[in-house]
Amino acid sequence: MSLGIPSFDRDPPLAAPAPVRDLIAQGALAAWRLMLGVEICNFALLRRSLGRPRADLLIDDVANEVRRTLPGAHVVAVGRTAIEIGFDGALPSDANEAIDRITARFASPLDIDGEPYAIEFVVAGAAIPSHECDEVRFAEGLEAALAEARSAQKTVVHDLSRADSGYDRTSLMRDLSAAIGNGEIFLQYQPKVHLRRQEIVSIEALVRWHHPQRGLIFPGDFIPLAESSGKIGALTIWTIQQAILDQQLLAMSGHDIPIFVNISGVLLADADFVDAVCVMKRETSAKIGFEITETAVIRDPDSAIRHLRMFDDIGITLAIDDYGAGLSSLAYLKQLPARELKIDKMFVLELTSSNRDPLIVRSTIDLAHALDMEVTAEGVETPAALALLGVMGCDVAQGFLISRPIAFPALKQFLDEDRHLSATAVTRPSFGRPESFWKRA
Ligand code: C2E
Ligand code: CA
Ligand code: CA
Repeated sequence: MSLGIPSFDRDPPLAAPAPVRDLIAQGALAAWRLMLGVEICNFALLRRSLGRPRADLLIDDVANEVRRTLPGAHVVAVGRTAIEIGFDGALPSDANEAIDRITARFASPLDIDGEPYAIEFVVAGAAIPSHECDEVRFAEGLEAALAEARSAQKTVVHDLSRADSGYDRTSLMRDLSAAIGNGEIFLQYQPKVHLRRQEIVSIEALVRWHHPQRGLIFPGDFIPLAESSGKIGALTIWTIQQAILDQQLLAMSGHDIPIFVNISGVLLADADFVDAVCVMKRETSAKIGFEITETAVIRDPDSAIRHLRMFDDIGITLAIDDYGAGLSSLAYLKQLPARELKIDKMFVLELTSSNRDPLIVRSTIDLAHALDMEVTAEGVETPAALALLGVMGCDVAQGFLISRPIAFPALKQFLDEDRHLSATAVTRPSFGRPESFWKRA
């Protein structure tokens, strides 16, 4: 059966794969671009039978099997339990055909060292016309399809062509007004791990919109609308209230870990918003932090710095987000009462394949430490990146390797089971370093 997947002239089918997103960025993939995500669901069970060292290699067996099933596709392992598959097709439905082939293959057990093991998985796909291909939209579309597949426990394929997705700003803006009241907005949480202490030290809240007609919408598609239509204040107040409630629930279950909320730049100059936050914070002992970008401060430095100091005074911890991605000014950086500097994921995603990014990351870590801030690297997707960050003296890591953003019940389970320990196991040998190597005791 032909899958409509052209073989790639530049790479033999089973060559070591470059990350799919690189290929997209380089335009090496053409026609309809299709991407599938496969996540193993029974990994914990398999690990119990196989033992951790062998289970950690399982994803390579699965990836190789998928390469044999879909010759010509680019298959990349993402962490220990997921793979991404990129290929070209004539139609979006080629994604379904490829999914059928994968499903048929894994209907029978996989031979692992001579023993048969049943692999259970969720799979989702995204399809985008090559002339519309936008790496971020593609990755977000796949992420949304996977989230839907996970919660519905069925295969989902999203057609991301503009005509189909119909991101009509006016109707979306109108729907947004009702969305909060209708309970369509919800939060997912992504933990941040302290590399030396091997603990979850904070959690980032990321907002999502479950639109009744359009399915899951990611913040990139509605936060700018909320900002331009004046609805961002109400949305952010709701987000902070929800984060406070969830933080209190976590604290009650023995995980008193701060939750950080993203704050749009426009709100840093909004006195009503600042007053509302002060009232909310006064009424709770919940541990809350804000992530803000430097670009937001540069827009109106006087009022932003004044308001940030007020937040700091009332016990809201501040982190500088997306460092290096926008405008940066050392003059302002020095004045901000921030405790954490988050290196933008664009420098972390390519950390082990680029010549320049390690230098930027290293010097940012030194700069932050000189300003007495802890450094968080976001977008940590591979054990190699995590290990390198540990060696560079980075304090905290966040990314798909440790956990994707997950719903509150899954977060609680993640914390109860100390699941970050398996994801960060690779860095443990470096914990033997002398205490002086690390910035803080
Ligand atoms: P951000 O603050 O930079 O959030 C991190 C984004 O990176 C999240 O996307 C997260 O899902 C994604 N991410 C995390 N780990 C990895 C990784 O290992 N690899 C890759 N490739 N991506 C990773 P998300 O949830 O789509 O959020 C996008 C942006 O939307 C956020 O970027 C933030 O700026 C904004 N946002 C999210 N929630 C809120 C909110 O409540 N209020 C405001 N104003 N903005 C928000
Ligand atoms: Ca953030
Ligand atoms: Ca960020």
